[in-house]
Amino acid sequence: MIQHVLDLIDENQRFFISTHIRPDGDALGSELALARFLQKLEKEVVVINSDPPPMNLDWLPGADMVQVFDGSLGQRESVDRADVLFILDTNAIDRLGKLAAPVRSSRGIKALIDHHTHPEVWFDVTFERETASSTGELVYELIAAFDADMIDTEIATALYAAIVTDTGSFRYSSVTPALHRIVADILERGDLNPASIHIAVYDTRTTESLRLLGRVLESITLRYNGEVAYVVVTPRMLRETGASSEDTEGLVNYALSIDGVRVAIMFLETENGTKMSFRSKADAHVNTWARAFGGGGHQNASGAYVRLPLEEAIQQVMAAAPRFVHVEAEDEGDVDLSEDDASYLSSLMELKSQEK
Ligand code: 5GP
Ligand code: MN
Repeated sequence: MIQHVLDLIDENQRFFISTHIRPDGDALGSELALARFLQKLEKEVVVINSDPPPMNLDWLPGADMVQVFDGSLGQRESVDRADVLFILDTNAIDRLGKLAAPVRSSRGIKALIDHHTHPEVWFDVTFERETASSTGELVYELIAAFDADMIDTEIATALYAAIVTDTGSFRYSSVTPALHRIVADILERGDLNPASIHIAVYDTRTTESLRLLGRVLESITLRYNGEVAYVVVTPRMLRETGASSEDTEGLVNYALSIDGVRVAIMFLETENGTKMSFRSKADAHVNTWARAFGGGGHQNASGAYVRLPLEEAIQQVMAAAPRFVHVEAEDEGDVDLSEDDASYLSSLMELKSQEK
């Protein structure tokens, strides 16, 4: 509850803030807005993440206060010494990356501010709403519940970046009249220019990333009567184009933009397994599908990581489609799932559903 979080802030002095691995605009924007709010209240604030900000977000006001976890004693102490640990934009300990262990063992009060489904149960205080467009929207509500006049240009910029990125520039189904009112208030309070934020966030691509896009578009494969599409990114594609894995962000949306496609998945091959990004339109929900493979997320945007080679990951995830979205099963000939694979898949599903 919002009041519980405000009480926590009132009653404590030392705050630690973190977010998920590979932080996005919502993760960083929410962290920076909350950090500055706390600083203005003369609190001690440390922000430490598992991964550095991506290039298109490192200009955010205050981004230089975000530390990348290096395992040093000093950093471990600041996690341990904190009265309150704020975890933003993720509710799963595994998504904290290298900070999972220090956060778990810290004696501080663990507070969640987040908009994902199925929060884990280790938080002491939570302010979460899965219908919120972004964690930034919730941080706005928190600050406004205290005193909206605290919102200065820095906070406004961070919140705007959080909201604009997590709503796909105000086009996802999470966008409501109330959110537009919040954004109007943010724009009025901060001296900020949406056009330059948009350029900084979206129009800063490298040539390498566009060459990768070209290769990825060639990999588009349609399944289930064209309702499910997937794309593939291999280390070789990254090597040959000179792109980095950061450049894979958003590529899955090209597959989703095909007429008739309701679900798109990107398979990213890594050294020890395969990372999947699920995206869907409207009432095709992908979070239970991602959860069946150990991941999670939102109804229309989820992810998971499996310790399987690329080809196997593709085969298993694709074969599972009819269990999670309404698609007609493909002809036997299309899906060459061996009996062994089929029984492995169902035991995997069984295991996962027991875990939840
Ligand atoms: P992306 O595809 O951009 O990596 O992730 C999309 C969304 O899916 C994220 O905002 C996050 O909510 C969720 N997500 C991605 N990967 C994982 C994962 O491994 N575990 C969980 N629980 N959620 C994930
Ligand atoms: Mn978010």
